Amino acid sequence: MRTPVFEATELFVRGVGETTDIVEKEMYTFADKGERSMTLRPEWTAPVVRAMLEHQMLAQGPQRLYYVGPIFRYERPQKGRYRQSHQFGVECTGYVDAEADAEVISLAWELVRSCGIGDAVLKINSIGDAVCRPRYRQALLEHFAPNVAALSEDAQRRVERNPLRLLDSKEERDAPFVASAPAFDAYLCDGCREHFATLRAALSLIDIPYVVDPRVVRGLDYYTRTVFEIESRALGAQSAVCGGGRYDGLVASLGGPDVPAVGFALGIERFLMVLAAAQSAVQVPREGIQAVALGTQARATLLAIVAELRRSMVPAFMDYEERKLLAHLKIADRNRARFALIVGSEELASGEAILRDLESRTDTRLPLAQPRVVAASLVEACS
Ligand code: ATP
Ligand code: MG
Repeated sequence: MRTPVFEATELFVRGVGETTDIVEKEMYTFADKGERSMTLRPEWTAPVVRAMLEHQMLAQGPQRLYYVGPIFRYERPQKGRYRQSHQFGVECTGYVDAEADAEVISLAWELVRSCGIGDAVLKINSIGDAVCRPRYRQALLEHFAPNVAALSEDAQRRVERNPLRLLDSKEERDAPFVASAPAFDAYLCDGCREHFATLRAALSLIDIPYVVDPRVVRGLDYYTRTVFEIESRALGAQSAVCGGGRYDGLVASLGGPDVPAVGFALGIERFLMVLAAAQSAVQVPREGIQAVALGTQARATLLAIVAELRRSMVPAFMDYEERKLLAHLKIADRNRARFALIVGSEELASGEAILRDLESRTDTRLPLAQPRVVAASLVEACS
């Protein structure tokens, strides 16, 4: 799915929720020339659902979609937290049952694990539905209300508006009260309890390790039942690589039919940070050809060959400065080229270029025929 970078502010207020961090303080909102309030996309789920409704996709049965692209949030930029970042995510609509949650979670998990991220932890929780969440909300309210004065500023504001959000507070002041808060587990209604049990059984069946963490609540208002996060220690304070869950009420709340859905969003910048920490020793394999021209005439000869190589889809690099051979070879290393094709005045005179294999450090000679013919024999050398 591809959606516009900005949409009506109202979409995000309704689709993300008024008591969320995103809507309360993180949106880039502006008035356009027609005095309409517009907002740079802070997350993808609401726009994707909006687009699905607009194109009648939900009438065609269950859907499995993905998106990738920028999001914008008014935050204090720091490592792993940017005003513009990028998310990859999936949305699966049309299934009420927990097997769909397991499928979505396994996709996120396999993606993270297949990239060699060894220390990833999958945390799951259930935050109930319209039947049992009010009861739990009340229990939290009663737990936090007597200690309101001791809580952080953000937490104080949330006690009345959305006490669930307190559970994912990162403030030290709130920690003791969060630790002693009741867990949702005791308040889940039968339907939600059974759904959560099915999810756990399905995850075990497909061999995905998880921990149940009652503090995982997710920031967005529209979540029901399943919520999950994948974390890595490599990220420090910005520990979440990926977060998601079920949002059975969202489609209807955006004016659509009663269609259940489950999905996740993965932060690409954070994913790359974890990847870098996990694979620091991995070298990029050498590929393609560095054309090394020594002199103006050699440059013309190689320019034509490079163009032919590119037409044949062989990665080809060329530097346009007068340099010593050694400097050219350094550039070839930086480009991770597999071969250097070297032409100087001697090679022009003899009609043979030098082809240096930069992996085995051996030279062969290559007749300087028509550019297309030279390129064809290089394609062979590269394959
Ligand atoms: P956090 O608790 O770290 O603020 P979040 O709950 O706001 O995360 P989500 O809205 O669930 O994050 O977005 C999903 C993922 O997108 C996060 O797990 C994270 O990897 C990434 N992400 C969110 N905001 C940012 C940001 N400002 N910069 C970089 N990545 C981000
Ligand atoms: Mg955030």
